[in-house]
Amino acid sequence: MHIKDIINKGQPSFSFEFFPPKSDKSSDELLKTIKDLEPLDPSYVSITYGAGGTTRERTHELVEKILDLTNLVPIPHLTCVQHDEEEILRILNRYCDKGVSNILALRGDPPRGNNNYDRSHDTFQYACDLVKFIRGSAKKTKSLGIGVAGFPEGHPETPNRLKEMDHLKAKIDSGADYICTQLFFDNHDFFDFRERCILAGIDVPIIAGIMPISSMQGLERMANLAGGSRFPAKLLKSLRRCDSNPASIEKVGIQYATEQCSELLNNEVEGIHFYTLNKSEATKGIFESLGINKTSK
Ligand SMILES: Cc1cc2nc3c(=O)[nH]c(=O)nc-3n(C[C@H](O)[C@H](O)[C@H](O)COP(=O)(O)OP(=O)(O)OC[C@H]3O[C@@H](n4cnc5c(N)ncnc54)[C@H](O)[C@@H]3O)c2cc1C
Repeated sequence: MHIKDIINKGQPSFSFEFFPPKSDKSSDELLKTIKDLEPLDPSYVSITYGAGGTTRERTHELVEKILDLTNLVPIPHLTCVQHDEEEILRILNRYCDKGVSNILALRGDPPRGNNNYDRSHDTFQYACDLVKFIRGSAKKTKSLGIGVAGFPEGHPETPNRLKEMDHLKAKIDSGADYICTQLFFDNHDFFDFRERCILAGIDVPIIAGIMPISSMQGLERMANLAGGSRFPAKLLKSLRRCDSNPASIEKVGIQYATEQCSELLNNEVEGIHFYTLNKSEATKGIFESLGINKTSK
């Protein structure tokens, strides 16, 4: 189903993100997670794309598994770092032949362990170039639904927040259908980002990215993420009260994310995207606390 038919329904979409597993054991665990979350009837699920090498094929494998074994709508992520036009077309055609209707088009970061990677040799410099390329391609691939990334707290490479909105607008003007945001913990950042998008003339749906904190290690990983994250004092205070107790930290994480979702829903968010980290408990807990039994496709 095309993303336009999924998110323009007058009610918020709910979607889940997974990353491709690295071993047979984690693959089995992920399938269990997916089966566990399927009854929540997400509007779609998205699958991340590795920074390079063999990990990239795993995205395709997971997308195929989701199509073969579930009724879910998969949206693969696709980064253009280190890809040329021929490779991008091959990937897109393969997806289209399998029945995929949408893609999340990203630039990506330099390959891991290669921070001095010279991007000037890449065919595509920015995500905007990838979106333009897809829209200018042959009939089958040009009509794919396209999502792009947005950064409510700002992307670290562009400290000029006015220019950043111009770059985001360029992705939409090139043909993107929706924006999915990086995770954030302060809803004011999202609401302000949404208003800045309106001021910039961006009129596509903006899906809010939410990640419940599940452990202190997870929090530290997020602190190192590109483009994130700002941790509000009220979240840090709640976590400090847990005194390093893993079960309490998980509960606080679910409660905090539930409050975030509740406020977003009360303020007409067009969709919420859960960064699941390939686990089902937190997402299920949030759905339950929000009183959502089943979403509608
Ligand atoms: C929802 C979401 C999903 C993601 N999934 C993945 C994934 O699966 N795999 C992965 O590797 N990474 C993923 N990322 C991370 C993402 O690839 C990185 O954050 C990357 O640094 C930015 O990607 P982008 O598509 O926003 O790039 P771009 O839109 O190209 O922007 C990158 C930077 O360049 C600037 N810029 C854009 N256009 C111009 C221009 N014309 N001139 C000068 N500067 C410009 C922007 O302001 C920004 O600072 C994801 C991020 C999000 C928010």
